[in-house]
Amino acid sequence: MPLTSEQVHDALRTVKDPDLHKDLVTLQMVKDVQADGDDVSIHIELTTPACPLKDKIRDDIELAVKAKAEEVGTTVKAVNVEFSADVRKANERAKDRDNPLPDVKHVIAVGAGKGGVGKSTVAVNLAVGLAQFGAKVGLLDGDIYGPSLKTMLGLDDVPTPKPRGNILVPFEVHGIRSMTIGKLVPPDKPLIWRGPMAHGAFKQLATQTDWGELDYLIVDLPPGTGDVPLTLTQLLPLTGAVVVCTPQQVALDDATRAVRMFQQLGVEVLGIVENMSYFVGDDGKTYDIFGRGGAEMMAQQMNLPFLGAVPIHMELRVNCDAGEPLKNWRGNAALAEELDRLCKNLAAQISIATLSGKFVQPTLSVS
Ligand code: ADP
Repeated sequence: MPLTSEQVHDALRTVKDPDLHKDLVTLQMVKDVQADGDDVSIHIELTTPACPLKDKIRDDIELAVKAKAEEVGTTVKAVNVEFSADVRKANERAKDRDNPLPDVKHVIAVGAGKGGVGKSTVAVNLAVGLAQFGAKVGLLDGDIYGPSLKTMLGLDDVPTPKPRGNILVPFEVHGIRSMTIGKLVPPDKPLIWRGPMAHGAFKQLATQTDWGELDYLIVDLPPGTGDVPLTLTQLLPLTGAVVVCTPQQVALDDATRAVRMFQQLGVEVLGIVENMSYFVGDDGKTYDIFGRGGAEMMAQQMNLPFLGAVPIHMELRVNCDAGEPLKNWRGNAALAEELDRLCKNLAAQISIATLSGKFVQPTLSVS
């Protein structure tokens, strides 16, 4: 007798999502099971389209279904696993009236201890990378003192969408939605904000932009530990933060402060990214210019996930300066792989944080 769908379900109870440490049935990821003679088809709904463990889950399912067949004295020929993804909302408990962006499932801050370490570069590539996996992504330039997204997204010649009343309409470029103060003020005007004005400008960009439905809203924060991260945590339910740093000791000291700041604000640190980790020369040799591995070690010592290392790549700088982030996935396979790895590791940490359900509630109401 061929396997029944119930028996396949039983088999799936033994397959764990390796990141979430629970079985697929308990996680409500099994959307459909068809057992048709010795062919079995299974539809699994993942918690992110950028799941790093798809292949492992597929292999484990096949093994579990075959083991079940053997246990009940039958055989299966083909186990077809089809994946889809539905990013789960971080904070079902946040009452919509407290949340100015109820259609955004995850707000992720990207911070750094100091400027120039590649925070905006990482934020742009996380946003564009996650979108390429099929997620709906927004990118907010929260660096109101030194907005770089106008250049990095190539917005110079893109007309600013007409606001609807006092609602800002985001730019739609490179597969993502984006908003930056860099397009709302004259380019040579110094951006001098007193504390309350910085708060107001950030609040307006974050909450008065019509983001629509998003899986992930990535927020590029100003470097350091100033007003904006505080405003962000007071305004929006954050899923967590990513801290970008370079490997040399002075940079790590600042990054440690940034991590501590998020932790003090009750924000989960989803991971550390080591940027400018090393350089591969034309001679094929690897040069550890800043001391590769420093940030990974810091992550380990602080018991934080390490999301990955991005080496110094000339293409990355050229594509950023030219406002063409998609080219990072076109020319250099190693670079594309490194960026994809970052995106997948972040997506996995977001799913893990979602399941753990610990989030700080915003304390300011938006009126
Ligand atoms: P931050 O936001 O931390 O101030 P940026 O993202 O603006 O830093 O990066 C500073 C400069 O360094 C930019 O010109 C950027 O293109 C370049 N850059 C960042 N990361 C890399 C990298 N891994 N390889 C080459 N250039 C990089």
